[in-house]
Amino acid sequence: MRYCSLGSGSRGNATLVATDDQALLIDCGFSRKVIMQRLQEAQQNPQTLVGVFVTHEHGDHAKGVQALCELLDIPIYSSFGTARKMGWTEHALWQCIRSEQPVELGSMDVFPVVVPHDAEEPLQFVVQSTAGKRLGVLSDLGTLTPHILQAYNGCHGLQLEANHDPVMLMNGPYPPGLRARVAGNFGHLSNQQCAELLQRLHWQGLQHVTAGHISEKNNARELVSQTLSGILGCRAEEVKLLDQDSISAWLHL
Ligand SMILES: [Zn+2]
Ligand SMILES: [Zn+2]
Repeated sequence: MRYCSLGSGSRGNATLVATDDQALLIDCGFSRKVIMQRLQEAQQNPQTLVGVFVTHEHGDHAKGVQALCELLDIPIYSSFGTARKMGWTEHALWQCIRSEQPVELGSMDVFPVVVPHDAEEPLQFVVQSTAGKRLGVLSDLGTLTPHILQAYNGCHGLQLEANHDPVMLMNGPYPPGLRARVAGNFGHLSNQQCAELLQRLHWQGLQHVTAGHISEKNNARELVSQTLSGILGCRAEEVKLLDQDSISAWLHL
């Protein structure tokens, strides 16, 4: 199994996960035009996509989902709450998914995981290949829960949210209400919370760690690298950070 970020941040998110014979997207927070360009950059034939898994209804995750799925005639997988917010409950391509109920797709199984975030019914995902490799994709959550730690245990690849530095957030440009939302239990993970999560999930089978959903206003990439490199026992330059406007390299598990 291999994976690649097609962009990550508050202006759009999409993660491509593929095996030899099929691929899926987790979120599509970009226009159809942009996502098609980025699939091409990643050298992934769109016809191999078997569905888009949507974490929640926020525009940076869901904006381009319906247009892409209609173009390719592939399923939209989301919770009922997300579908209701997006107006998909009557849509022919919508498939309802529930936490704790894996979706089996040939060479990949997708496990939806409930997370605390200020959306209707947000889910995040662990993808497991038939070869037993596990990729955990996790963003848009305000706090860590025992359920999340259990669900993401034993992942060989982790793509985690490192949204903000608390000091930069408090001194940054956001109005007080928005600041409180981001920092709250239903907001986003800080660099420190991301580090704590990584510490809890670190094990000898972990091959790749990437950090994403990095705020352009309330964080600095050096701070993310510094915070995570200590836990990974590597140099700050070696920590892989995702970009808003460009795709990442493919990572193999
Ligand atoms: Zn988001
Ligand atoms: Zn969100």
